[in-house]
Amino acid sequence: MSDRGLQDLGDGCHAWLEPPGCWGFANSGLVVDGGQALLVDTQNDMRMAQDLRAAIDGLVGRPVVDQVVNTHGDGDHWNGNVLFSDATIIASEPTLADIRGHWLDPSKIDDYAIGDNAFAEFMRWRQCVFDYTGWRPVHPNQTYAGELALSVGHREVELSELGPAHTSGDTIAWVPHAGVLFSGDLLFTASTPIMWAGPLSNCLDVCDRILALEPRVIVPGHGPLIDAAGVRPVREYLAHVQGFAVESYHAGRSPAEAYQAIDLARYADWPHLSRTYQNIRLVYRELDPERFTADVRETLDLVYGDDHGSWRAIGDA
Ligand SMILES: [Zn+2]
Repeated sequence: MSDRGLQDLGDGCHAWLEPPGCWGFANSGLVVDGGQALLVDTQNDMRMAQDLRAAIDGLVGRPVVDQVVNTHGDGDHWNGNVLFSDATIIASEPTLADIRGHWLDPSKIDDYAIGDNAFAEFMRWRQCVFDYTGWRPVHPNQTYAGELALSVGHREVELSELGPAHTSGDTIAWVPHAGVLFSGDLLFTASTPIMWAGPLSNCLDVCDRILALEPRVIVPGHGPLIDAAGVRPVREYLAHVQGFAVESYHAGRSPAEAYQAIDLARYADWPHLSRTYQNIRLVYRELDPERFTADVRETLDLVYGDDHGSWRAIGDA
């Protein structure tokens, strides 16, 4: 497993890794030059964000974080904005909308933690594992559409909006001179990806667009660093789920039946395989949007319930 903390990727680029990369343990990225710094994603809870902030302050030259990019609207990538509220905080327009209307920000966890189901139990786990003391919503204050080129000192960082895929407005940050890509949750490594917005076919296209950049190092949203070759297992998994879900739909299986029937033996060492249920539902929704509407609470009850061994183990650690 990778070490927690800041890793120097060369050419002014750094990764902040949060092993084990499971639910709520997200990575961040940093580009530094000429005393300036651009931060990609700000961590899930206040303790994680404070540790990240301290590590940046400890870098030689004490760079000023004057630009922040939120890759998408899930809280584990923007809750820490409160520690960087003086910066220009940039996101795509759909991501800003997701953040403004987020159904599961930290202020709502206590309410969701009441009940006798896997979803509520997971929320109680979050109350124990994460520290949201002092959290308040700090939203992006600059949006873009399509592409945006940013400067950090003399270095260039290119933002591209590749959603809808994981969420409605996913952004990648590409540092061409260094060959470093910050992918957000368009890529999970060494674990099962979960896609919320889709369509899954676009998630496959995203993998191809990332491969076409020929990155030297990829900092995924969750999990260890990879190179371009590390994208291929993710792409293969998504294609496998897509193919089986389409076949199952036409065979008259329900999403739950397809989830029970899919052969995931090739991915047996990936944690969180229950996320496959959501990925299957996404394919069904694309095929018949009126019948297979998004019911995130019902979906998460099954996904968390079938995955309880992996997240409970962290609370015990
Ligand atoms: Zn995430």
